[in-house]
Amino acid sequence: MKPVFAALIDALGESSLIHGPEVAQRATSYWDPSPTRAQAIVKPRDTAQVSAALAICHRFGQAVVTQGGLTGCARGADTTPDEVILSLEWLNAIEAIDTVAGTARVQAGVTLQSLQEAARERDWLFALDLGARGSCTIGGNIATNAGGINVLRYGMMRNLVLGLEAVLADGTVLSNMDEVLKNNAGYDLKQMLIGTEGTLGIVTRAVVRLHPLPATCQAALVALRSFEEVTALLKQMQRDLAGTLSAFEVMWNSYFAAATVPGGHRPPMDRTYPFYVMLQAEGADPDTDARRFEGLLEAALERGLIIDAVIPRSEAERRALWEVRENFESILKNRKTYLYDVSLPLRHMADYADSVRERVLARWPRARCIQFGHIADGNLHLFVQPESDDADHAACDEAVYEPLLPFGGSVSAEHGIGLEKKDWLARSRNQADLAVMRSIKRALDPKNILNPGRIFDT
Ligand SMILES: Cc1cc2nc3c(=O)[nH]c(=O)nc-3n(C[C@H](O)[C@H](O)[C@H](O)COP(=O)(O)OP(=O)(O)OC[C@H]3O[C@@H](n4cnc5c(N)ncnc54)[C@H](O)[C@@H]3O)c2cc1C
Repeated sequence: MKPVFAALIDALGESSLIHGPEVAQRATSYWDPSPTRAQAIVKPRDTAQVSAALAICHRFGQAVVTQGGLTGCARGADTTPDEVILSLEWLNAIEAIDTVAGTARVQAGVTLQSLQEAARERDWLFALDLGARGSCTIGGNIATNAGGINVLRYGMMRNLVLGLEAVLADGTVLSNMDEVLKNNAGYDLKQMLIGTEGTLGIVTRAVVRLHPLPATCQAALVALRSFEEVTALLKQMQRDLAGTLSAFEVMWNSYFAAATVPGGHRPPMDRTYPFYVMLQAEGADPDTDARRFEGLLEAALERGLIIDAVIPRSEAERRALWEVRENFESILKNRKTYLYDVSLPLRHMADYADSVRERVLARWPRARCIQFGHIADGNLHLFVQPESDDADHAACDEAVYEPLLPFGGSVSAEHGIGLEKKDWLARSRNQADLAVMRSIKRALDPKNILNPGRIFDT
């Protein structure tokens, strides 16, 4: 047995280390069902064990890749055969929920959905929400600074974290489990760690912010003729719903039509409209909120701003509408798909989306270019399905990213860089930014053992 494994077993116990053929029983990720290739999987039980494991790996110069729920979209948690996985799956306790201040103290391996449910049971809302809620973990959400469908109202993960505990590459524990919003005593180290995709430290615990559970929830799926009308509707709803609009998810026809083919979702409305928006507002007044919401939609219909609308009449109907937007498995099934997640100013979004489609079709005439996203955040997702086995990923990246740069866009809105996009990072950030990122990485992880080669090469 390699000395590093013997030391890990010594420190954590035999049951905390999986090595040999058993490693391959784990799928690489949500996106890639192929067997995991890694030397071993280490499963610590608490922060002290994470610290002990990292101190050992640091001593032996052993590369470590942190894994949460494996739903990340940038291949940051994919491993090579020489790396060791550190899985947070046993750090899955919700330690406390403070129902006076509205905070929760959790371990990093807790799934997003478990925290949402635990908060809801106590009449509070944990506002981060995204389609992978059942599997993704709070640690992964912090590491990727996850966004999702409620950013418009509640912000991204970094807006919801009050305190953080993380273990650095050499085993040092940085524990700043603040429970208050304000702490200007020196550098805000938690914000420095959030969104660094496991390259600077392993998140073990966090204190997150809860919001009072809204009294009402109104949702609708609406159809529109043009992207100009989509932005007009967004502005109107933001103004007229006065801060209660929480989701505004746009689907181009390419997405909606692909999601509602036989074998996919039942189409809740005609499949031929150019644009669809799933919107949701969360309010405080059960007597008037629904009437007000529906009145706004009726007025928009009368003015011709929207051309069709479906309002769910039950929780089951609301969930079924959301499924069309959130569950895209039928679109991905049996098709080679490249996933993109870009951001750019809203005023350029329509031109950019058209230009990518044109480039993709010019290169692969039978390709599908499927567009949707959190448009209120300037965030567009694309699934490019070249429908050709020899389609070159790099050529596809060029078709998507080249037209983005003149608009001042970012190659990652919310998924991160991982291994997937690191060739494009330098096109999205300037040289001074990259130099500072490298200095921070070298200062905190001088032996480059934490998620090496993710985001950038040192
Ligand atoms: C159906 C679906 C819908 C999605 N929708 C959205 C969306 O709307 N918005 C969005 O932002 N993302 C979305 N995602 C992407 C994904 O869910 C998020 O990136 C999520 O935050 C990853 O969490 P995870 O626990 O699965 O992390 P993993 O996939 O396990 O890891 C992701 C990265 O974080 C690192 N990491 C994980 N845990 C830790 C830790 N404790 N400490 C340090 N580093 C760590 C890993 O090394 C890796 O680099 C979606 C994914 C799917 C499959």
